[in-house]
Parts: sequence; C-alpha cells; structure tokens
Amino acid sequence: MIGVLVDFKESGELTLPSLPIFGVASSIGSELIVISFSNVSKVMVPECSSEVYICPSDSYSVMTKSILHIYETHKLKVVLAPHNTFTKEVLGLVAGHLKLPFITDAVFFENRVVKKYIYSGSILATYRINSESYLITLRSNAFKAQSLNMVEKETKTVTFEAHSDYGRIIERRKTVSARPDLSSARVVVTGGRALGSKESFDALILPLADALGAAVGATRAAVDNGYAPNDWQVGQTGKVVAPDLYLAVGVSGAIQHIAGMKDSKFVACINKDRNALIFEHSDLFLEADLFEAVPKIIALLK
Ligand SMILES: Cc1cc2nc3c(=O)[nH]c(=O)nc-3n(C[C@H](O)[C@H](O)[C@H](O)COP(=O)(O)OP(=O)(O)OC[C@H]3O[C@@H](n4cnc5c(N)ncnc54)[C@H](O)[C@@H]3O)c2cc1C
Repeated sequence: MIGVLVDFKESGELTLPSLPIFGVASSIGSELIVISFSNVSKVMVPECSSEVYICPSDSYSVMTKSILHIYETHKLKVVLAPHNTFTKEVLGLVAGHLKLPFITDAVFFENRVVKKYIYSGSILATYRINSESYLITLRSNAFKAQSLNMVEKETKTVTFEAHSDYGRIIERRKTVSARPDLSSARVVVTGGRALGSKESFDALILPLADALGAAVGATRAAVDNGYAPNDWQVGQTGKVVAPDLYLAVGVSGAIQHIAGMKDSKFVACINKDRNALIFEHSDLFLEADLFEAVPKIIALLK
C-alpha cells in the first residue's frame, strides 16, 4: 500500500503540484491511501485511492502522529508528496520516528532510482534506495500529470491530542492573486536589483508579466531591497520554477538564482552587460537597458 500526502483546494480538487504525485504513486502500487492537511469533507481523487484521511491540525506533533497512525494502520510501504517546505518538515519528522530513508526534492524517480540536484543545483546526483520502505518528496514540475479516472470521495478525519510539541503553525496566510501561481506558472517574468526601486519594479515588471499572462518572480537582491515580497523569490532559498518561458530582467544569473530556474524550457533575458552570467543559461539574450526595452516590449504586446 502506498501513501500520498497531497493538498486540496477548498473546492475539493487537487492542487496543481499534487496531481503528478498520483501518476508516480500508481506506478509503484495499485492501491493508494491519500493523506492531507486541507480541511475538506469531499474531494476528487483518482479511483485507485481507497481512503482519504484529513488531519486538521496546526501542531507538527499531531500531524506527525496522524501520519504515523495511518502508516501503521495500512502498513504503508512508501509515502510520496510534492516537494515544499511543509512536506519536507513533516515527512522528515515521520521518517525520523520510523527510522526510514527520506529523500527530498527528487526530479527523477523510477524503480527506486532517484535523481536530485545538490550543491545549489550544480550537480545532478543519482541515488538508489536499498530499503523497500521509504519516504520521498518530488519536485512536481519535473513530473508529468497522468490522466487518471477521478471519483468523489468522503474524507475521514484523524485527530490526536498534542502532548509534547515540535512546533506549531501560528498563522496560515493565503496569497490571493489574479496572476498564475509562481511554482506552477507556464510563463514567469523575474525582476532583479537593476530595477532600482519598488516603483520601477511595479511600473515595469508587473505590466510586462500581465501582458504575457505570467507569474512574477524576483531575485533575492530585489526582495531584500523591498521591490517584491519574499514569496516571489526564485532560487536556492526561494521557489523552484520550471516554466515554458522564463524572462529575467536585470538579473545577473548568480548560481543561487540559477538553482531555482535552471529547468525552465526557454530562458530569455534583458541585461545591459553581455558578460552577465545569465547569458550562459539563456536561449535569447537582449543586450539592452531595461528601462528602454521593457516599455517598448509592453507596447508591442498590447
Ligand atoms: C546562501 C545564499 C542563498 C541565496 N539564495 C538566493 C536565491 O534564492 N535567489 C536569488 O536570486 N539569489 C540568492 N542569493 C543571492 C545571489 O547570490 C545574488 O546576490 C542575487 O541573485 C543577485 O540578484 P540580481 O541578479 O538581482 O542582482 P545583481 O547581481 O546586482 O545583478 C543585476 C544585473 O542587472 C544588470 N543591469 C543593471 N542595470 C541594468 C539596466 N538598466 N538594464 C539592464 N540590465 C541592467 C547588471 O548588468 C547585472 O547583471 C543567495 C545568496 C546566498 C549567499
């Protein structure tokens, strides 16, 4: 039996990053146990899902106990989840209790062979899992979502008392935006330090992104300088994206930034320095001053 730890929208549909997990899970087991922390009573899941458990809690110790309980009850062999900070933390605690191998952020997974990037994305390492039982998080946009027959299912709630605590989520803030979600967007426009101010970032990067129907990303320098919020950061300490088109504006291409966008299918950039590192990672390089080029591109797209 295989466990999948996924997210649901309020409507009960699976979130975009959760979808590819089912295809991978059903390639290693025919019956799936679905676990989620989303508080929904009815969900749409692939028909190979025999149970859907909801563990509504903000306490890490309760979440860990809930997964351990489901793990023991169904004698799960493997638990898979889309990779994010939250699944990395919770499954890390579960793996510690079970003393099982735990692999995070895999970009390839077949017959217990796993590939993942290490050293800020500069090396793609291959691992073989020797244990029959293990936990693994997958970088969702590296896997294709399979078309699976979906059925409606009632969820079962699992609750435990928290005696000791590893930590507690004190607030969940949902970002409401008309733009696509950065992690799963097909087009991303990223602005860097060269924008010089939040006003320029808003005046140039946002309209350019909207003209392309894109999500907005930012470098750490842009975030640290207050041009963009923290959850727009792309890179080693930000989000990992793999869109069809990644447009980097005034971005130098530091290794820590490249780690977050290197899987993009097509990379275009605007930079006034032809020796900028981003050049080596670009399919299209526009050597120009962004303050002149971006308004012209926006006008052309209108
Ligand atoms: C542990 C660690 C983790 C990090 N994690 C991240 C991360 O997750 N994400 C991240 O982005 N960074 C991260 N960084 C920071 C990273 O090393 C770089 O400092 C950062 O990415 C640089 O941002 P930038 O490209 O916006 O700025 P810069 O490096 O200053 O580059 C600005 C670019 O804009 C160009 N430019 C300037 N003016 C113009 C103009 N008018 N028109 C066109 N082009 C222009 C310049 O030629 C230059 O190439 C991390 C660093 C460390 C140490």
